[in-house]
Amino acid sequence: SIEVVDVRPHERFAGVYVAKFEDGSERLATRNLTPGRRVYGERLIKWRDVEYREWNPYRSKLAAAILNGLKEMPIAEGSHILYLGAASGTTPSHVSDIVGERGLIYSVEFSPRVFREFMEKLVDQGRKNVVPILGDARFPYQYAHYIKGVDVVYIDIAQPAQAKILADNADYFLKKGGHVMLVIKAMSIDVTKEPSETFKQEINVLKERGYEILDTVHLEPYDVAHAMVIARRV
Ligand code: SAM
Repeated sequence: SIEVVDVRPHERFAGVYVAKFEDGSERLATRNLTPGRRVYGERLIKWRDVEYREWNPYRSKLAAAILNGLKEMPIAEGSHILYLGAASGTTPSHVSDIVGERGLIYSVEFSPRVFREFMEKLVDQGRKNVVPILGDARFPYQYAHYIKGVDVVYIDIAQPAQAKILADNADYFLKKGGHVMLVIKAMSIDVTKEPSETFKQEINVLKERGYEILDTVHLEPYDVAHAMVIARRV
């Protein structure tokens, strides 16, 4: 396999790294919180006695957003995150690496089958900063007793009315001055590339609920359908 020749911190986001290989190619990576273990078949990269995991932008929309020039990344070392739509844990695993041992990621997933896979991968592998919650993001009161205030609410549930669900969760759990991160269907998949109606509606819901939109990043070519929106409650 091809040799790594350097790993350096990302120029803007602490906890995110850029690995460089002998053929000149570069890849995003995070420092592996559970060395020796993979979550989704990603490449493990050893550099100067530290192990990193390659972060694949075709599998993780947060990686795609970072590569596409995301301006603000509110997830940092020590952050407490509420992650809605954990699936089998691809992006949550990298968030877990970034927030590290002092951080915490409450991860909500409502499909029991997917949740079991998530548990096997992240929790059984010994990631101690992941709190798995089998629950439905539409009903935050159902899991309200598990969660203390968080710095960021992240949502990627591929469902309608995500902005409302996000804001409802933030009402319960988001600390003052906290951020929200929303993955939404962004563009009509046609030649006009006009923002879709859903996109505009979702942005409006956030504004009506008192959020200032800080950044919107489209995810092409990694993901043609979605964008990442970062907002802050004002
Ligand atoms: N965020 C994941 C990642 O990047 O690795 C991928 C998430 S996948 C696109 C969407 C997930 O949201 C699915 O696993 C689905 O079961 C879950 N989901 C959908 N509706 C939900 C809800 N109301 N509450 C919790 N999870 C939900």
